Amino acid sequence: MSQNRVVQGRMVTADSLAELIEGESVMEAESISEADRDCPECGESVLEVGYMPSVTEFVTGWKCQECDWSETDRD
Ligand SMILES: [Zn+2]
Repeated sequence: MSQNRVVQGRMVTADSLAELIEGESVMEAESISEADRDCPECGESVLEVGYMPSVTEFVTGWKCQECDWSETDRD
């Protein structure tokens, strides 16, 4: 169900994209969608993925497809 996308030249799944953003493995990730914004660093496309780093937390994360920029909706 989760589509593969290319991020910085590598194929990612929803799980591996969430892990790129989080910096460690996550419990579960939703499917990847195109974010309605451009990367603030390089202006390229940004992908969005919702994921659960732990049982009690749900995070929305964004990751640029071309550079190292990423962000989450944590405070
Ligand atoms: Zn970028």
